[in-house]
Order: sequence, then C-alpha cells, then structure tokens
Amino acid sequence: MDPKQICYEKRGQVLVKNLRSRHFEAYYCPNKAAALEKALELIPKGASVGWGGAMSAQQIGLIDAVRAGEYRAIDRDLGQTPAEREKIMKQCLGADVFLTGANAISLDGQMVNIDGNGNRVAAIVYGPDSVIVIAGMNKVTDTLESALTRARTVAAPMNKQRFDTPTPCAVTGACADCKSEACICNQILITRNCRPAGRIKFVLVGEELGL
Ligand code: SF4
Repeated sequence: MDPKQICYEKRGQVLVKNLRSRHFEAYYCPNKAAALEKALELIPKGASVGWGGAMSAQQIGLIDAVRAGEYRAIDRDLGQTPAEREKIMKQCLGADVFLTGANAISLDGQMVNIDGNGNRVAAIVYGPDSVIVIAGMNKVTDTLESALTRARTVAAPMNKQRFDTPTPCAVTGACADCKSEACICNQILITRNCRPAGRIKFVLVGEELGL
C-alpha cells in the first residue's frame, strides 16, 4: 500500500469509530469495488431508491447498479421537462433509500453538506427510511471548522463549474460569499448525530471521489 492509502485507512478507522459513537452506521472500504459491494448489501431488494448529489456513488458504479438491479429506481434523469424532474426529485423524499455524498466530514464524525435547491439536504434530514453516504477519504478534514471551510471554498466552487449559471465562483473558481439567484450555497447542513440510530450509513472509500 502506498503511504496515502495507509493514512486513509488509519483515518478511516478513527472516523468509523467516531461516526458510530454518534449512532451512524459506518464502514471503511479500501477501494471502489469493495465500496460498491458494501453499499449494495445495505439496499434491500425491491426498495425504492432515489439519489441526489451523488457523484461519488456514481463513480463507484452504484447508480448504474441500482438502475440495472432489482430495485425501483427514482431517476430524475428520466424526466423530460423541468416540471417532471422536479416531481421526481420530490418523490425521492419518500424513497426507501436515498443515496448521496458529503461535501466534507470532520474526523470527529460530523458531516457538512451545502445545497442550492435543498432537495439533497432535505432528504438527509428527514424522509427516506435509509440514507447511504458514499464518501472518498479526500472529503475528511481534521475539524468541523475545516469541514465547513472545505465545503464552502473547495466543494462549492468546484461543483458550480458543472452548471452554466452566473455566480462569482463560476468566473474565478473562488467563493465570494454571493447572494446571487444562481447561488448553490443556500442551505448549509451540519449532521451531528443520527436519529433514528442507523438511519444514515456511511461507506467511506480509501480513494479520492467526488469534488
Ligand atoms: S460564490 Fe456563491 S455560489 Fe459560489 S461558492 Fe460562493 S456562495 Fe456558493
């Protein structure tokens, strides 16, 4: 193993322990293939499955596996119009399982997510019976303060490059704390603990995933 993987593994074990102390389920997987296997173990056959902000889930092959598997995928990409996509996004709030990622996770087990429309953070907070977070170890920071900084100054400006709407970070790549109509930083969620216990499940991956 190279030094980065060794470090990820050590930090991953610390984080798993700290997440469990906050009543999350948590698993460390050394690579994408192991993470896909673990995530699929956590999804009951026949479950309705939605997702949002799930680039890391996509990168490990989980979204394709759900689409192809014995599940009821709630897939907003099948919406033909903005109104249809919106309707499908709302259906995700009642899914059996919701797949998502994290903008940052502090080593003491707190997750930070930023959202423009709010659909993703809404599903993390309440609604789906089960939430599965797929996160590369590149998302893990030493403190909650550095997690918030990562989410605001790294993840959000990078994410904004995927959308063709005007904000300062779309032009410069740096956050200017904007109030733009196109701002993607309208909701900032810190998930400190999990209630009911085990509702939110972390699959941590010893690779760099997402933004
Ligand atoms: S400039 Fe606006 S949209 Fe961009 S990261 Fe900062 S607050 Fe978010």
